[in-house]
Amino acid sequence: MVDPFGRAVTYLRVSVTDRCDFRCVYCMAEDMTFLPRRDLLTLEELDRLSTAFVEKGVRRIRITGGEPLVRKNIMHFFRQLSRHLASGALDEVTVTTNGSQLSRFAGELADAGVRRINVSLDTLREDRFRSITRWGDFGKVMDGLDAAQKAGLAIKINAVAVKDFNEDEFDEMIRFAHGRGMDLTMIETMPMGEVGDERHDQYLPLSAVRADLSSRWTLVDSDYRTGGPARYVRIAETGGRLGFITPMSHNFCESCNRVRVTCTGMLYMCLGQDDAADLRAPLRASEGNELIGAAIDEAIGRKPKGHDFVIERQETRGTVARHMSVTGG
Ligand code: SAM
Ligand code: SF4
Repeated sequence: MVDPFGRAVTYLRVSVTDRCDFRCVYCMAEDMTFLPRRDLLTLEELDRLSTAFVEKGVRRIRITGGEPLVRKNIMHFFRQLSRHLASGALDEVTVTTNGSQLSRFAGELADAGVRRINVSLDTLREDRFRSITRWGDFGKVMDGLDAAQKAGLAIKINAVAVKDFNEDEFDEMIRFAHGRGMDLTMIETMPMGEVGDERHDQYLPLSAVRADLSSRWTLVDSDYRTGGPARYVRIAETGGRLGFITPMSHNFCESCNRVRVTCTGMLYMCLGQDDAADLRAPLRASEGNELIGAAIDEAIGRKPKGHDFVIERQETRGTVARHMSVTGG
């Protein structure tokens, strides 16, 4: 699959649910309305869709949400997908999770061939954790990290940089993550969905964070890549990796290799644009994959050049109406 700008699409993100057991302030409003369950694709349908993408050349799949590990019977889905790892058709299946269910599922994820996971964690202070996730239980996430490491999963911590919230904690988070052999990646807030707060109150440009960090740490540029949008440095003092995902302050769309499928079968060609293609109708219209394949080709043919996000004090532009929990970041 090659888009009109010559970018090969080899990476699929599958959001298996829009529901979540947290209500992170930058991601959701507290009183979110979720999709009616009848609109969801079944796990078998999600597997068929994912398989159609694998047949078209996708090499890596990331499972996300909402919180993917709260979807009923989700381990069955991971076990099904693992056949593509066994056959060599897929290089990697990964997951992005808030960590709340990891102590239950880490072992099963590892058994299903998952080797790396991303755990979202914006703070190490229990009271702050509660205020940013609204509903989260910090202790459970810590137990989840322990379980994941015990199961042999490599962990990358993802932290959204939020102004006046966690900017005084980044040193501590670097020490914590690197001290446990985990990578750490920081992410800029993106204007997605109504969350009841002003976006410019949350937005902290990582260019400023990086400049600040480099007054205390030695940041050595690295060409390490995981196929995602993060750019990495190695911190000489810890030996660990620190990534920056900077959709706002430094746009990386020119190297975009991914598309996203939601739990209702909508295919989004760009996280930051509203255009989408319905794959549920072709999926349900026949048992074979021909119709889905044609719909995917047509959609890739209109993958946009990039997002139009801008967050400034005066205004926030390029906003998309759907929440991050719909397409899963
Ligand atoms: N629930 C899982 C989790 O939190 O890891 C997976 C889904 S969550 C939507 C995926 C990632 O998107 C998380 O790392 C989260 O912090 C990030 N995220 C959510 N809303 C965001 C926003 N408006 N801007 C930037 N990142 C956001
Ligand atoms: Fe849930 Fe993840 Fe969104 Fe937080 S960022 S509310 S954990 S989907």
